[in-house]
Amino acid sequence: MKDKVIVTGGCGYIGSHTVITLIHHNYEVVIIDDFSNSSPQILDRIERISGVRPHFEQVDLKSFEATQAVFKTHKDAKAVIHFAAHKAVAESIQNPLMYYQNNLFSLLNVLKAQQENSINHLIFSSSATVYGNPSKMPITEDAPTQRSSSPYGNTKKIAEEILEDFTNSQSEISVISLRYFNPIGAHASGQIGEFPSGIPNNLMPYITQTAAGIREKLMVFGNDYPTKDGTPIRDYIHVVDLAEAHLKALERLLDTSTTSPLEIFNVGTGNGFSVLEMIKAFEAVSGSPLNYEITDRRPGDVPEMFASTTLAKNVLKWEASRNLKDMIQSSWTWEQNLRSELK
Ligand code: UDP
Repeated sequence: MKDKVIVTGGCGYIGSHTVITLIHHNYEVVIIDDFSNSSPQILDRIERISGVRPHFEQVDLKSFEATQAVFKTHKDAKAVIHFAAHKAVAESIQNPLMYYQNNLFSLLNVLKAQQENSINHLIFSSSATVYGNPSKMPITEDAPTQRSSSPYGNTKKIAEEILEDFTNSQSEISVISLRYFNPIGAHASGQIGEFPSGIPNNLMPYITQTAAGIREKLMVFGNDYPTKDGTPIRDYIHVVDLAEAHLKALERLLDTSTTSPLEIFNVGTGNGFSVLEMIKAFEAVSGSPLNYEITDRRPGDVPEMFASTTLAKNVLKWEASRNLKDMIQSSWTWEQNLRSELK
């Protein structure tokens, strides 16, 4: 058994895939989750897939006392991977205080509890949303961050600023912040995947739910953008590739020869696909036409986002290996076979 790692939000979409990758690489995992957007059944599924049941602590990270207590119990952990956060853009516009409170208090409490228990490494879930509407493609990590059009996006931008100030102030804790592009796909087992609560905000679950008959039709938000077919371009990345980026980040943090206070990496494939290309690719995988309609632009959407992957390749020694078909096929398999079991 290798080192112990605390994974907050380990029952969520990206968290659960990362936990499985960590277990396969013999890490001892402690999941902290409050099930606010996940389910206890994920623990059974992680066990079924990996053969190991991770330690589990049901904790609301907004409480420092509760966070401190669990970090104290697991003070032999070497690192924390902090996924736990609210992530629905539209909900954050409706309820900004809930987003600032949840996403920022939890980060502050995690950092303080790490400090008090000398758990000296952190991987933070950031987002390409910190780039706002970038002027240059592909986006490199040194592109300026911009105020987001949503409170959700701002919690990621502010969190990175907190991490910068925090790592500047002391030398013990080193941090890697991973800026995710657009995670889609599901584990090859078909046992875990994305499980959006309510109406999905994101494209891929909306597509699969439409094809499954849960939604009547996909609304395509605008076809008058300055892109090849007028619909916005995004860098979709397989969630298992994303999980593997966390493994690489962890290995880098635990290798003391490479430690630096704060490093930031894009996690994308470097390839951009438009909304219409995603629909066509989905239709090819599912074998039937998707019901969709072009409608108005969604406020806050930007025309084009895709990552420069050079830094992650050269420094993190990570690059995505799964293609668009793998991503879409696994999302579709997950939607068809298993999501109903988790209701
Ligand atoms: N999109 C769409 N209809 C939907 C959901 C998304 O046309 O129901 C488009 C959206 O305008 C964007 C792309 O799909 O261009 C990806 O959207 P998503 O919300 O998944 O990711 P983000 O906008 O955060 O990159």
